[in-house]
Amino acid sequence: MKQVAVLIIGAGPVGLVAGLRLARAGIETLVLDKAGSVNDDFRASTFHPPTLEMLDELGLTQDLIAQGLVSPTWQIRQHESHNKALFDLSVLRDDTRYPFRLQCEQRVLTRLADAKTQTTANLQVRYGVELTGLAQDASSVSATVSTPTGTETISASYLIAADGARSICRKLTGMTFTGETYPETTILATTPYRFEDQLPGLSNVNYVWCEQGTFSLLRLPDIWRCSLYADPDESMEQALEPQAIERKLQRIVPRQEPYEIVEIRPYRVHRRLIDDYRAGRVLFAGDAAHLTSPSGGMGMNGGIHDAVNLSDKLIAVTKNGASDELFNLYTRQRRPVAQDEILAQSHTNRMRMQRRDPAWRATEMARLQALVANPVSHREHLLKSSMIAGLARAAATT
Ligand SMILES: Cc1cc2nc3c(=O)[nH]c(=O)nc-3n(C[C@H](O)[C@H](O)[C@H](O)COP(=O)(O)OP(=O)(O)OC[C@H]3O[C@@H](n4cnc5c(N)ncnc54)[C@H](O)[C@@H]3O)c2cc1C
Repeated sequence: MKQVAVLIIGAGPVGLVAGLRLARAGIETLVLDKAGSVNDDFRASTFHPPTLEMLDELGLTQDLIAQGLVSPTWQIRQHESHNKALFDLSVLRDDTRYPFRLQCEQRVLTRLADAKTQTTANLQVRYGVELTGLAQDASSVSATVSTPTGTETISASYLIAADGARSICRKLTGMTFTGETYPETTILATTPYRFEDQLPGLSNVNYVWCEQGTFSLLRLPDIWRCSLYADPDESMEQALEPQAIERKLQRIVPRQEPYEIVEIRPYRVHRRLIDDYRAGRVLFAGDAAHLTSPSGGMGMNGGIHDAVNLSDKLIAVTKNGASDELFNLYTRQRRPVAQDEILAQSHTNRMRMQRRDPAWRATEMARLQALVANPVSHREHLLKSSMIAGLARAAATT
């Protein structure tokens, strides 16, 4: 039976960051992923300032910046009037080395991190290997995995469950994942059309109210990602038709030619949280522990923050002889942040965009503009939305 100190299930952003940190501290680590090759998900597009600081330690941030868009502002805007509340992260210049959001695809991180694993001692990443069974006793956890050449058993002192939203680790340990799935389906349409040339004062991240509903425009180096929704009289099947997407893009900027649409992808949004981040020697991180609306861009960032917190504790326990009570502290530090900061802010952001009542929108816009006009409330809001406040809260929890 193969033995390692730490076994990580899932080579997404969370599993790879945890693996790199542990291996650099001299802990023999094995990362498994059921996919045949590096996780190429397009999903996340925003990196917040503290995440860039954490990835800097691993030598990844400058490469991400080189492949992304430094975005000092983001905004909530009314499409027809161009009236907006503009949030400016430069007010955080004394709080972080990176006072901006970086617009960059999640897969840039997984590719860069995967490349780094190949030259990191104490670390192996195996693709095409799926966890199917788990057992644990007082001294170890053993994983049954299915590989292209048959079944294997791997034993480890601890296992990190970074296996994403449908986590099999969660099921095998009987953990509950309390929450809800939101009713709407979001349609992600990607186009190279240059909205920035037509819509005055756009940021790279824009949450937009319009008379017919709501949309968001998120810019990446060569494309815009547009989040769209079905009209009230459309079925989801109809809303996904290229003509329906074309009609909605024409509402954003009317033009003679059709839009070039690179990709159309529907997705459902959830708000769920695991009851405990620890099941004995199995420790949960990322989407396996918490799921949230992408509005505000916090899911992957929060998962990376879990990975950093947890890998510090694994280093203290396995290298420095600290008590494994530290893993209970991990839950105490990270779960309330997921609940009260990540899930709660994402929920508020989603609700704000879903509300259609013009009078409510006018009041909310005035409130946000007043908040931004006051340097104290502006900074406080950005400390929360940039996930700095959540990390400070976790650090203060003993
Ligand atoms: C449209 C969209 C936009 C988003 N935008 C943002 C954003 O801007 N910012 C942000 O912070 N977050 C965003 N998110 C959320 C973000 O994508 C996730 O939070 C992030 O991918 C979670 O990373 P993870 O490593 O926990 O899980 P995943 O990325 O899901 O990785 C889990 C890995 O585990 C592997 N796996 C699963 N089961 C097994 C098994 N049994 N055996 C072995 N391997 C297994 C999978 O193959 C996968 O590679 C967005 C999500 C969506 C859907």
